[in-house]
Amino acid sequence: PIHEAVLGHSAVAHADRVALVDGLNGTTVTYAGLDARTRRLAAALADAGVRKGDVLALHSPNSLAYPIVCYAASRCGAVVTPVHPLATADEVAKQLRDSGARWLVTVSMLLATARTAAEKCGGVTEIFVCDGAQGHRSLTDLLATGAPEPQVTIDPAEDLACLPYSSGTTGAPKGVMLTHRNIATNLVQLDGVLSGGPGDRILAVLPFFHIYGMTALMNAPLRQGATVVVLPRFDLDTFLTAIETHRVNAVYVAPPIVLALAKHPAVAGRDLSSLEYVLSAAAPLDADLAAACADRLKLPPLLQAYGMTELSPGTHVVPRDARQAPPGTVGKLLPGTEMRIVALDGGADLGPDATGEILIRGPQVMKGYLGRPEATDAMIDADGWLHTGDIGYCDADGWLHIVDRVKELIKYKGYQVAPADLEALLLQHEDIADAAVIGVTDADGNEIPKAYVVRQPGALLTEREIIAYVAARVAPYKKIRRVEFTDAVPRAATGKILRRELRARERSSTP
Ligand code: ATP
Ligand code: MG
Repeated sequence: PIHEAVLGHSAVAHADRVALVDGLNGTTVTYAGLDARTRRLAAALADAGVRKGDVLALHSPNSLAYPIVCYAASRCGAVVTPVHPLATADEVAKQLRDSGARWLVTVSMLLATARTAAEKCGGVTEIFVCDGAQGHRSLTDLLATGAPEPQVTIDPAEDLACLPYSSGTTGAPKGVMLTHRNIATNLVQLDGVLSGGPGDRILAVLPFFHIYGMTALMNAPLRQGATVVVLPRFDLDTFLTAIETHRVNAVYVAPPIVLALAKHPAVAGRDLSSLEYVLSAAAPLDADLAAACADRLKLPPLLQAYGMTELSPGTHVVPRDARQAPPGTVGKLLPGTEMRIVALDGGADLGPDATGEILIRGPQVMKGYLGRPEATDAMIDADGWLHTGDIGYCDADGWLHIVDRVKELIKYKGYQVAPADLEALLLQHEDIADAAVIGVTDADGNEIPKAYVVRQPGALLTEREIIAYVAARVAPYKKIRRVEFTDAVPRAATGKILRRELRARERSSTP
């Protein structure tokens, strides 16, 4: 079970070390303290009626309570479904209903939303409020319960530990059934490649509710005995201050934070000398942008990792000591995992350096989508291969490069254009602060690349200049053919560009 995989060793081996630090107020919890609270909370939850197989929705920004609730739920055999803290009441209600949640854990700031959602959905037995609120039991109340610890037998291969919802970047979010074995095995596969160990001070700024944050910033570092500095949300100033104050040596981020670190004026003059490495995942990161960030921070080359919710989540990581990794790679295949790269037309297996769809088979492949057998069958074939929907190529040494998603490719007159390539090129322009590219239909019915561009403050760059800048650097079929200036690129909490929002904008503006 995951509470064993994470705390089984570190609660004993690193008992007196600091496991968690609140990045805003400095409160700390040691490994022994984390383990004790987890056990006491599990006892209280069991006493409240939480049973094996129950779904417990965790609706909270990052906090010290977050991991305690996760591992306590695991001790009860309950399944945690993490909910986006910024979700609306309707969205929360939808997830509560879809997941069949019986318990809801939230924070006072989100209680109004949580209550409305629970009323709409009807299946929730009790709402707990971590930091306390009138009429609800708090974490402190629960920890004082003093009930006996639950004795639950978990079958790691069958029993679910976590039910995260996929990000909904390409469609409606789906509940991803991850067993204890899925998650625990992936943690073992990540040993020694993701995160260091005791002595590491890792900044948890990406949300724990997403599988990347949950793994890279919570489960893996706590398994390793590192110290996790917890921030409830990202803003650049708080992020930089936390690195300075807590002498953080490792940050795990997504490309928009890399962009800020590489380009934002606020970074100059900050003391980031404690940083030893930066790892980016969750969305395509351009090699030049990565190099600019490393240069500015005087760090070794940025590391990357690749994964998806359905893969618990990891399959590829650039190990921290891999100084020979080629620029732009997302890493090498983790042990115990198989990969194929197949042609987009016809599915024939491809060799080194050829670009195609990435297929994965291994112990980290999800059990399936909750209540959506057809969606599961569309994703995992009869031989157990999960079709990622991502396009990439692998060099002869086994370094994987991600090109883009199959669904995002723009088909211009029979050619395929990857929006991620064009976005990377646009970001290299000194007057461009941010950019996103989608395919739109022109008057002749052709799909053409269109760029949404955020200019640097004060820059006067024109559409014509942008089109010419790109045209000078790419093959003719890849040219940007239309530009719209915008104030911000819509992104998910993990930094993924929400191209479907841009498409909706496009549809509503074309008659
Ligand atoms: P949905 O499946 O609901 O549309 P999503 O695919 O964005 O949403 P996640 O599981 O959070 O949901 O994200 C996984 C995807 O993120 C991968 O399939 C891939 O497209 C992208 N991704 C992850 N890591 C990287 C990386 N290092 N480089 C490029 N893309 C990445
Ligand atoms: Mg996906």
